[in-house]
Amino acid sequence: MNIIQDPLLLQNELLKLKRRGKKIGFVPTMGNLHEGHLSLVELARQHSDIVVSSIFVNPMQFGPNEDYDNYPRTLEADKSKLKQYNVDFLFTPTNEIIYPFGKEQHTSVQLNRLTNKLCGAKRPGHFKGVTTVVNIFFNIVQPDIAVFGKKDYQQFLIIQSMVSDLMMPIKIIGAEIKREKNGLALSSRNQYLTEAQKDSASLLQQTIKEIAENIKQGDRAYSELIERAKHTLLSYNFKVDYLEIVKQSDLEAASPSDNSILIAVAAWYGSPRLIDNLEINL
Ligand code: AMP
Repeated sequence: MNIIQDPLLLQNELLKLKRRGKKIGFVPTMGNLHEGHLSLVELARQHSDIVVSSIFVNPMQFGPNEDYDNYPRTLEADKSKLKQYNVDFLFTPTNEIIYPFGKEQHTSVQLNRLTNKLCGAKRPGHFKGVTTVVNIFFNIVQPDIAVFGKKDYQQFLIIQSMVSDLMMPIKIIGAEIKREKNGLALSSRNQYLTEAQKDSASLLQQTIKEIAENIKQGDRAYSELIERAKHTLLSYNFKVDYLEIVKQSDLEAASPSDNSILIAVAAWYGSPRLIDNLEINL
C-alpha cells in the first residue's frame, strides 16, 4: 500500500494509472476503521482496478461543541487493516494541506436542498463541511466510482445529488449498514461505549425495526408510531435528537401513500450521539 500525504503526488500517480485504462475506486473515511469501513473497501474493489482510501478527520464538518478534538484517531491500526484489504493508495493529508488558509477562509461547496433536514437541521454547517471536503478529494483522486455507507443515509443522498448537480463523472455506490451481532450499527463513536452500554444501545435499532414492522403490517399512523417509539427510547435513557419517517428520495415527511420510505433516528446514549436508519420499500 502506497501511503501519500501530498495531493499532487497522489493525483499524478492516479492519472498515470487512469491513462493506462485502470478504473479508480475511492473510499473516503475519518479513520478508526471497523468492519463497516472495510465492507466499503470490498465493494470498491468489486467495481474498480485500483482502490484509494483516505483518512482525514475533517474539521469543517464538526460544529463548535462537537467531538472533533476527541474523535478517535488510530492511524497505525487503520493502516494495517487497509493493507490486509489490499488497498492500493492511502491518502492521509493534514489540515494545513487541505485548508491552507483555515477552514473559514476556504472555498466551500454547499447543496441547497436536503441539507436542512434530519442531521442537517441539528448540525448546522455539517453537510457544507462534508460536500466541501468530498469535492476537494474527488478533484484530487478523480475516481470513476466512490463508495459511501448508507448508515449515513443523508450524506449518501447529498453526495449523490452533488455529483449529479455538478455533472461530476463519478458513480456513487451505496453500501449497506454493517452491524454488531446485537444489531447496533457499527460506528467509530461506539468506542465511547462500554460493552454493556453497546448491548443496551442496540435498542435504537430494535425500535426502528419495530416501527418498520408496524408499517409493513399496514399501520400508517406515523405520528403515533413515532411518539410511542420516542417514549420507549426515553425510558431506556436515550436522549432523542430526531426520529422521523421520511421519503427516501427527498427526506420530506412521508405520507401514508408513499412506498419508499426511511425511518431515521439520532439519539444520544451517554456521551455519543448515535445515528441509524432503515429503508422500507412497500
Ligand atoms: P466515517 O469514517 O464515519 O466518516 O465513515 C466513512 C464511511 O464509512 C462513510 O461512507 C460511512 O457512511 C461509512 N460507514 C460508517 N459506518 C458504517 C457502517 N456501520 N456500515 C456501513 N458503512 C459505514
